[in-house]
Amino acid sequence: MNLARQIEQYLPRQLLELVKDISGQAAKRGQRVYIVGGVVRDLLLGDPSLRSGLRFDLDLVVEGDAVKLAQQVAETSQAKSLAHHRFGTAKLKYENFTLDLATARRETYAKPGALPAVTPGTLKDDLLRRDFSINAMAISLASNDYGGLVDPYQGKSDLEHRLIRILHPGSFSDDATRILRAVRYEQRLGFELETQTAQLLKRDIPMLDTISGDRVRHELELIFEENQPEFVVKRLAELGVLQRISPFLNGDGWIAEKFDRARRLKKPTQLPSLYFCLLIYSFSERGIEQFLARLNISAKLSRAMRDTLRLKTSLPLLDKSSLKPSEIYYLLREYEPAAIQANAIASDSSMVHHHLQLFLTKLRYVRPSLNGEELKRLGIPAGPEMGQVLQILHKAKLDGKVSTKADEKKLVFSLKALDFHTDPEPSQE
Ligand code: ATP
Ligand code: MG
Repeated sequence: MNLARQIEQYLPRQLLELVKDISGQAAKRGQRVYIVGGVVRDLLLGDPSLRSGLRFDLDLVVEGDAVKLAQQVAETSQAKSLAHHRFGTAKLKYENFTLDLATARRETYAKPGALPAVTPGTLKDDLLRRDFSINAMAISLASNDYGGLVDPYQGKSDLEHRLIRILHPGSFSDDATRILRAVRYEQRLGFELETQTAQLLKRDIPMLDTISGDRVRHELELIFEENQPEFVVKRLAELGVLQRISPFLNGDGWIAEKFDRARRLKKPTQLPSLYFCLLIYSFSERGIEQFLARLNISAKLSRAMRDTLRLKTSLPLLDKSSLKPSEIYYLLREYEPAAIQANAIASDSSMVHHHLQLFLTKLRYVRPSLNGEELKRLGIPAGPEMGQVLQILHKAKLDGKVSTKADEKKLVFSLKALDFHTDPEPSQE
């Protein structure tokens, strides 16, 4: 099988030239360079719209020292080389592309979930350390077999049969993130887990406990970058994987519906954060703290997720038609936008939904037109009084009592006439 035509057709010309140049320089050093990983899979599927094809985060494997090769390439081109000597890998950064070069290596796992011990190896060794047969193929870039497919583990056949298959029975226990990866590819591609792979996956679910929070979270983040992550979540629940990450998680139809709704929002806040907030919507306080700790979730996202549950308990306050915009503003201003959005999606009340959306799309951006300088010129001294006036102006603007600068000036004058002993605090009723 030769994929020269596909490479020429789907890879951007500039990228192709770079890759050929690297391969040429490697040849002079007696090294061979291959394209590996997701791009090979996607080229074989013939679908250039698949993500790795679009992003062109091209992975190259070198039989021999990749770091030295990358340094040499950098010296003779515009590229910057960033080496990782310990792993024998280097990044070549060009203006429009980044290429990852890795020394072909062999990996052994001392114990489940541990980082593997790495020694230089052949291309075949390097493909054997990979997650699934469909991701364990390479395309040769050497001039004498340019485009040649290297497929020692029947990846092409599995692609044709639409199967996700691990390369050896210890694969999931070596690295249980592959459990999450397997389901992600299965759902993305509409494939099935090969029979033995499915059995081993179920057997090794407890091995997820050997994976650090950062790595589990990273896999969830990758899932949330998929076009339809709800299918992955649902399937993970069916297999009993989700419950191993947290016993409070479930992947029922509610999640599917809400994730879908999240994507249809015109201006979603960061979609992955929103998915996280929806994922824990049914959690108790204890459940969420366990989950945040297990996945080592960042401070900012933790705040959004805690806010989600806090706001959920306050939603009845927002289910009143008589609320003034300023009241909505003061009820919501302390919450993270992702938490508000998650509740807007989750709530069954159209009134609540409307109020939350009003805050997100309009109220949170409302500011008085007059600034401190202008207020000073109108005779308001800097200090607490100025703060009070600004707050009154803000509230009036939120409630549509003023709209232009002239309106605001008028309001300021009337306050001055009253010596503004007006209560500046929002009413708390
Ligand atoms: P995607 O389209 O999701 O980017 P990809 O195949 O390019 O798919 P990456 O996460 O970019 O996936 O990883 C590149 C390659 O590295 C994979 O194709 C696979 O061969 C290998 N790989 C990644 N993660 C693992 C893992 N946990 N275990 C073994 N091999 C892995
Ligand atoms: Mg990739």
